[in-house]
Amino acid sequence: MIRVGVFGAGGRMGSTVCRAVHEAPDMELVAAVDPHHAGIDLHQLGVHGTQIQVAAKASALADAGAEVAVDFTVVDAARENLRWCAQHGVHAVVGTTGFGEAELAELAEVFEAAASNALVAPNFAIGAVLMMRFAELAAPYFDSVEIIELHHDQKVDAPSGTAIATAQRIAAASKEWAEDPTRNLVAEGARGASVEGVPVHAVRLRGLVAHQEVLFGTTGQQLSIRHDTTDRTSFMPGVLLAIRKVREHPGLTVGLDRILGL
Ligand code: NAD
Repeated sequence: MIRVGVFGAGGRMGSTVCRAVHEAPDMELVAAVDPHHAGIDLHQLGVHGTQIQVAAKASALADAGAEVAVDFTVVDAARENLRWCAQHGVHAVVGTTGFGEAELAELAEVFEAAASNALVAPNFAIGAVLMMRFAELAAPYFDSVEIIELHHDQKVDAPSGTAIATAQRIAAASKEWAEDPTRNLVAEGARGASVEGVPVHAVRLRGLVAHQEVLFGTTGQQLSIRHDTTDRTSFMPGVLLAIRKVREHPGLTVGLDRILGL
C-alpha cells in the first residue's frame, strides 16, 4: 500500500484526489492538509469511510508517515510544499499550475540533492497528453495547422496553457508551414492568436469544461485530433499513475510523457 497525503484537500481537485486515492486498492489516504478547511472531516468533502480530519500544516503528512504527497493548491503554496517534501523525504506529485521555467530548473536542483522525487504536470488528463504527442508526430507530414481550444465561461486566461504547449511542440516538430493566405483582415482577431506561428482560436462557452482540437491539412486530406475533458475525474487516472510511478523517476520530472513511456 502506498501511503498518500494530499495538499489542498478542501479544493475542487484536492477533494477529488482524496476520493480517488481512498478508492484505489493499492493506496491508503493517510493525511489531508488545507489551512482554509482545517478541522473538517473528510466525509464532509464526499470522502466516505475515513476518520481523517483536514489538518492545517504539512507536518500532518510526516506524522502520518506519508510516502507520497499530492499537491493541487496555488503556486505560492505548492512552492513551499515541494520544498517541505524535499526536506522530509516525501515524494511529490504536483498538479498546481503556474511554475515558470527558471523555477522548475531550481526545483530540479533541489530534488537532485533530495532523498525523494517530484513530478510536476500541468495536465494530468492522459488523453490531453496523448493529443499533444500525436500532434507533434503529425506536424512534419502536413502543410497547415490550426488549434481550437474550447473552455467553460469562467476561464480567465486565453489561450489555455495546454493550447500554448501544443503550439510550442508543433512548432518545434516542424518549421515547414504554408503561408497564411489572408490579405484583407476584415475583423481583428479573425485568424486567432499566433503562438510560435501556429494560429490558436479560443472559444468560451457556458456548459463546456475543457476541450481542444488540433486541425492539420495537406493536399486532399485533413487530420483532426480532439480531446474532451467533461469532468474533473478525467485527471484521476493520471494522478494515480504518477503516485505509483514517482518513486521510479529520480529528481524532478516535468509532464506525464515520461511516466507514460512516450
Ligand atoms: P481550488 O481553489 O478549488 O483549490 C485549491 C485549494 O488549495 C483550496 O482549498 C485552498 O484552501 C488550498 N490551499 C491554499 N494554500 C494551501 C496550502 N499552503 N496548503 C494546503 N492547501 C492550500 O483550486 P482547484 O480548481 O482545485 O485547482 C488547484 C490547482 O490545480 C490550480 O493551480 C489549477 O490550475 C490546477 N489544476 C491542474 C490540473 C492538472 O491536470 N494538472 C487540472 C485542474 C486544475
